[in-house]
Amino acid sequence: MVNYRIVKDLASPAAHHSIDSKVMGDRDTFYKPPVPLAIPPIYIWPPRLWASIRYLALNLMLQWGGIFYIALAWLCWEYLTPDPQHLATLQWWWVSLIWLRNVFLWASLAGGLYWWLYILKGQGQNYKYDDKWPERGNRKFTFSDQVKDNMFWSIFSSCTAWSLWESVTLWLYASGRVSGYEWSEAPFYLSLMLLGTFFWMTFHFYCIHRLIHWRPLYRLTHYLHHRNISTNPWTGISMHPIESMIYFSSIALWWFVPVHPVIILLTGLFTGLSPAFSHSGFDKIRLSSNQALPSGIFFHDLHHRLYEVNYGTLLTPVDSLMGTMHDGTENSQEQFVARQRRMLNTKQYR
Ligand SMILES: [Zn+2]
Ligand SMILES: [Zn+2]
Repeated sequence: MVNYRIVKDLASPAAHHSIDSKVMGDRDTFYKPPVPLAIPPIYIWPPRLWASIRYLALNLMLQWGGIFYIALAWLCWEYLTPDPQHLATLQWWWVSLIWLRNVFLWASLAGGLYWWLYILKGQGQNYKYDDKWPERGNRKFTFSDQVKDNMFWSIFSSCTAWSLWESVTLWLYASGRVSGYEWSEAPFYLSLMLLGTFFWMTFHFYCIHRLIHWRPLYRLTHYLHHRNISTNPWTGISMHPIESMIYFSSIALWWFVPVHPVIILLTGLFTGLSPAFSHSGFDKIRLSSNQALPSGIFFHDLHHRLYEVNYGTLLTPVDSLMGTMHDGTENSQEQFVARQRRMLNTKQYR
């Protein structure tokens, strides 16, 4: 049985993050998915073609919800985005409409999940990673309430940053400053970009996440997200405004690589909405006694417990290249503890 508690003599990195080490230490594993958390077959050499196709179709498109985000991006472009003739001039009225649409989508998803899992407690503690529920009366959170804090920062900081990046990018395309493609002009190229978007977003996430764990930036911005040791759907994009702007900067790739606006919207939607699931605190959402939808991401849950592991995702497993991957096994835990001990002995933590 792996014990994820941080032992007392390792409390220093936590203290360096200004996190109450006791809170961290209190957190026991409740439900644990099967481990080791595996690297996808697309990265295995020699290539395993069938397993890779299966992974992209079943895991990326269904389990990660790829097809859901693509459909939503298309719907938003067709019905919930101002016409290109309006987008050609940057104006506050339509930027505000895009903000309202994004807030509506975020609040519906995070709020819906929160309502089912945390208010109705629709599946009790089944598949819940720990036995903690959102905190009230803790002054480390804005309004002394974890959920109100998470709602506030996700809506006013992250939905705003998301909408700004999206609006500016749509304006660049609509005003002809960047020439995109229609699907009829470049179907193969755009399909490749559509699939590549998921890899780009998760790779970008690793890079910026590593950056904001650099101590000065951590203290300035990322500490706000990490006050949530036990997470809930609203935690997903609960971020400091600087972090929100950095986080959604993945959309800026399309300033240099021409695509169709649906792909621009997809980048915002996946980056903005998928964290509601990954931070839900539940590994699965039970549909019936023998059916469940994948929800939480244990890989990222381990990051919220241990800080110095799993900066990215398994879709682009840069952590395994950089030696920061924790696959949930006892072996990984021992390596993590040894690494923390070594860090404690360096000047950085004295
Ligand atoms: Zn997180
Ligand atoms: Zn982090």
